[in-house]
Amino acid sequence: MTNGIRAGRVLGVPVFLERGFFIGFVLFSAAFAWFGATTLGLPPGEAIVGGLAAETLLWLSEFLHNVGHAIAARRTGWPMIGISLGLMLALGRSIYPADEPALPSGVHVRRALGGPLVSLLIAALLLPVALALRPTGGAPFYVAAFGAGLNFFVYTLQALVPLGFNDGAVIWRAVRERFRI
Ligand SMILES: [Zn+2]
Repeated sequence: MTNGIRAGRVLGVPVFLERGFFIGFVLFSAAFAWFGATTLGLPPGEAIVGGLAAETLLWLSEFLHNVGHAIAARRTGWPMIGISLGLMLALGRSIYPADEPALPSGVHVRRALGGPLVSLLIAALLLPVALALRPTGGAPFYVAAFGAGLNFFVYTLQALVPLGFNDGAVIWRAVRERFRI
């Protein structure tokens, strides 16, 4: 299922941290800090703290997105058996039992929508924070704006676009099945 370290349980679902998670955390914090210092013109100390904050927010966004899937899955009666956080981008994965029978397409859609709905909520909460921080600018503003944009443009809107591996793919497969297109 996963080779990760079991970090705890959320809503009864075990959470695993893959080895790539730690490498990704360091690399991406550094990349964000570098971007902050060179492109955004932040002082080095602020760029480093901002980089760590941006990467933490990325990780939290991914984690909460998957918690959204877990909540939705439990409500359908076909729960997840794990959340895996790993790979270089701190990409998360919802793990479902390998031996699930063929489920109605409505179950797949409801489970797939749980994550994007939580991401939309996070984006809606971070947007006013980013707007409030805009006049003072600096790392706090950039980090909040990044979080709002990430949750809306990546984690929410991906539900509308079938990419083969994402929530959009699950939703479109169910829609095509339902309407035989
Ligand atoms: Zn998802």
